[in-house]
Amino acid sequence: MEIKAIRGFSDILPPETRRWRMLEERAREILEGFGFSEIRVPILEKAELFSRSIGEETDIVEKEMYTFEDRSGDRITLRPEATASIVRAYIEHKMYTTDPMAKFYSIGPMFRHERPQKGRYRQFHQINVEVFGISHPTIDAEVMAIVMYYLSTVGVKRCVLQINSLGCPRCRHPYKENLKTFLNDHLHQLCRDCRRRMERNALRAFDCKVQGCQEIIAEAPIVSDFLCSECAEHFAAVRSYLETLEVSYEVNPRMVRGLDYYTKTAFEVVAEGLGAQNAVAAGGRYDCLVEELGGPNIPGIGFAIGMERLLLILPEEHLPPGPSLFIAALGEGPQKDAFSLSYKLNRARVRTMIDYEGRSLKAQMRRAAKFGARYVLIIGEDEQRSGRAILRDMEEGKQEQIPFPSLFEEIVRRVKGGSP
Ligand code: ATP
Ligand code: MG
Repeated sequence: MEIKAIRGFSDILPPETRRWRMLEERAREILEGFGFSEIRVPILEKAELFSRSIGEETDIVEKEMYTFEDRSGDRITLRPEATASIVRAYIEHKMYTTDPMAKFYSIGPMFRHERPQKGRYRQFHQINVEVFGISHPTIDAEVMAIVMYYLSTVGVKRCVLQINSLGCPRCRHPYKENLKTFLNDHLHQLCRDCRRRMERNALRAFDCKVQGCQEIIAEAPIVSDFLCSECAEHFAAVRSYLETLEVSYEVNPRMVRGLDYYTKTAFEVVAEGLGAQNAVAAGGRYDCLVEELGGPNIPGIGFAIGMERLLLILPEEHLPPGPSLFIAALGEGPQKDAFSLSYKLNRARVRTMIDYEGRSLKAQMRRAAKFGARYVLIIGEDEQRSGRAILRDMEEGKQEQIPFPSLFEEIVRRVKGGSP
């Protein structure tokens, strides 16, 4: 019987993989340029890392994590997001001792047991960015500017940056009490989840997708009315620095994000054409997280870009692999020459293909077309006799003769020289 992939887990096939690599390469280029260094953390972590950081009452921890016991009976989780792991690594390796200020990025798969639909999968990929050790609002503006710059660089046309401030534990406490009183007054209209979570985490009601809850929450008190002076000043400064960098944004006072660790700045980039799953990137400040996970009191801020969602809003262009060559060889001697020349060219990064089975010229030309070869080098018996091979430019419809001894150099010059 045929074995299929697991629901919500997708294969990424060529030529689609080329678009993925383009997105990853642009991200690396831009982030390295902004002083970020790549960090790679494991895909499996102790379950506790996520319940403690993301929060026990969040959707991710309550419903979406792939948690299981391994053969030694340890409770482990396939990471649902990257921030917790990166913070863990930052603390575990005492990276703050060399310099508390650090800029990291990471690219890789995340796992959440959600209902698969457009823009929502069980294995998905994120580009993650984290900055440690800077509490100044300039960095909030810079990371948001980077998301927007990256998105426009890869070709996202219409998207909006929405920002909010969630305050700090100091101002959030009185706000939560106020919100709880409000929700209590509307208890019978709330869904079971919201009612259950209300005592310990009333804020989650903002994140609830149930229509009835959304109607109630539209009337609820908002956190920005409760910000302490430090948080209010920080938020005002973030906005003014966004203006300095000419990044447009909207304030969305009801955006709280689905993770408990955010403090002060929270943001989302929403894009057209994604339907209900409209957030292509999201992030925020997490000034208490390093300490909560056992490290020193060091602030942090970060975001994640969802790569599948990003691909959904990008035009479905086909990215050609760059010019390539097919060597059509007829007869045993020429085939052997083609075989070794192709190996030499491949090592020189010239994308070269041959017909391994030595079929007819017609069959080989068909293979060249399938390969998408811009150039075809023909070595038949005539060419063998004259000591010159024919290099045909399939795009221009021209051809020329090249003497055997200079084949390698001439091909590298023509094929590679023409590449972007
Ligand atoms: P949503 O409200 O869409 O569920 P979220 O709050 O769970 O998003 P985050 O945990 O902040 O999202 O993740 C950041 C980004 O990762 C999202 O903006 C989205 O682009 C992407 N993402 C999150 N969950 C999924 C998923 N199941 N499938 C594909 N992409 C996802
Ligand atoms: Mg979610």
